[in-house]
Amino acid sequence: MVAREQAQRATAAERGDERVLAGLSRLRSEAAYEAAAACPACAEARAEADDAEALCDAHLEHAMGLHSTWDAIRRR
Ligand SMILES: [Zn+2]
Repeated sequence: MVAREQAQRATAAERGDERVLAGLSRLRSEAAYEAAAACPACAEARAEADDAEALCDAHLEHAMGLHSTWDAIRRR
């Protein structure tokens, strides 16, 4: 019984984390797209791909969470 309660609490905590992580992820990609708006390499990528949301390699990695300090929170 106690073990089941602990498991339920753990699941609830995980769900909460998921919401926080989703929020962080959204903020992270918004920040990446904001930075990308002023980035010449991104402008080139958009022109080449004919895609208004295309990003250069650096900003694509940023948007996906690579090289982000927020990643440290995710791994905790
Ligand atoms: Zn860029």
